[in-house]
Amino acid sequence: MELHPRPLAMVRKTFEQAPRAADQNGPTRLRPRLIRAFALRPWLMVLGLVAIVAGAGQGVCAQTSVQVGTDPAKFVLKGMIVNAGGALSGEMVIEGDTIACVAATCTEPPGATLITVLNAYIFPGFIDAHNHVAYNFLPKWNPPKAYLRRAQWQASPSYKTFKKPYDDNKKQLFCEMVKYGELKALLSGVTTIQGTSPGSACIDVLIRNAENQNQLNLPASYIRTFILDISSFKETIDWNATKSFVVHIAEGAQGDLPSLKEFEILQQKNLLTASTAIIHGTAFGDAEFQKMGQAKAKLIWSPESNLRLYNQTTNIPLALKHGVPVSLGVDWNPSGSDTLFDELRVASQVNSEIFHNAIPSSDWIKMVTVNPANALALDTQIGDLKQGLKADITVLTANDPDPAQSLLKTHLQDVQMVWVKGILLYGNESILQTVKKDACEPLLVHGSKKRLCVSDPGAGVPKADETLAVITEKLRSAYPGLAPLVP
Ligand SMILES: [Zn+2]
Repeated sequence: MELHPRPLAMVRKTFEQAPRAADQNGPTRLRPRLIRAFALRPWLMVLGLVAIVAGAGQGVCAQTSVQVGTDPAKFVLKGMIVNAGGALSGEMVIEGDTIACVAATCTEPPGATLITVLNAYIFPGFIDAHNHVAYNFLPKWNPPKAYLRRAQWQASPSYKTFKKPYDDNKKQLFCEMVKYGELKALLSGVTTIQGTSPGSACIDVLIRNAENQNQLNLPASYIRTFILDISSFKETIDWNATKSFVVHIAEGAQGDLPSLKEFEILQQKNLLTASTAIIHGTAFGDAEFQKMGQAKAKLIWSPESNLRLYNQTTNIPLALKHGVPVSLGVDWNPSGSDTLFDELRVASQVNSEIFHNAIPSSDWIKMVTVNPANALALDTQIGDLKQGLKADITVLTANDPDPAQSLLKTHLQDVQMVWVKGILLYGNESILQTVKKDACEPLLVHGSKKRLCVSDPGAGVPKADETLAVITEKLRSAYPGLAPLVP
């Protein structure tokens, strides 16, 4: 299959013209199921009434009810639990930062807060497999033309001008820049993100930065990332210590020789392994994907950024043909999508219009959960909702009876709760105000009242007491063009 720039350009145009918030909060089509649930379990009706009262201020029939317990470290979430491997109507127990049980029924620990989720799906917290988090305070960059490879646009005057605020502020405001990028990701249900340089203690709060191993008790070299030209990589990798090597390779047009040369160099340096996660591979053809498949290497795909910069994207059907697992990453907001949901929609549109639906629907959830967890060698800790894994959880309004299709219809206002390390960091105001009253900052997201928990003075790291208001004000003072938190 050839990927012609023209249809891909059409894909992008079509996507951009699509209304951003076509789906609103009222899932009217799913109402019959709500009624059935009440009919079968009368006690839900009582809780439901509490929820409706609690959510009345939003003008929406709230779906989720909360019964606050006495132990702040224990929670039970009841509802439709959706992993990449399938869905279960049941419950999940959170104890501290860990999932203690996922089953049709669990033994509920005494004192736990009970949260009953209706007309929503409980997903594993999403993993953005590739990003450049600190750049996401910058607005969109509109490339003046399509390029052949990464080095071209990076050397362009347009890009250098665009990037100047990053260079000017990274010394003073790096913590704020990263946290702002993390918060943008958190709003779209992302609980782990790849793409921050290791070593900054100030980012040990909010969501997990993969390379910084936030709260995962892994050595610093466990994940290594390389963002420069691979020919400049002079180090060696101790594969006993490093379990994921995340590297930009062949970010360029299909068949572009300098881009393909990077893949050769990667092999010459013995860096094409089962622990290698290749970002982009846009230039790859059958031969390269075959070698990736043989090596059991992983692919990270960022279609929107590819389309904007090169007017084409990675040949995912070829990757799948050779058994290469694919993860999704936003790349960064300036040329990528604003949210992981938008990135999924671009991927889905490319799939239907160019790939003849070679990507099965069941892959969408995998691409943002188990596949990136595997690519980052974090699958024993995150990416799945099961006993013993970390309690990183994203709850989204059900916009379709099929969870994968629902995910593709999700917009920022549909995010009901996001938990990181067993801590409810973001979600609907009615829920947050019940679970942790006045502990978090209000935020209006396309008409939906949310609360966002940013300040964490007890974290014991620099700048952890900063609120969203403080972070935003510092960044805006330094750079008035600051990208909106809620695009
Ligand atoms: Zn990148």
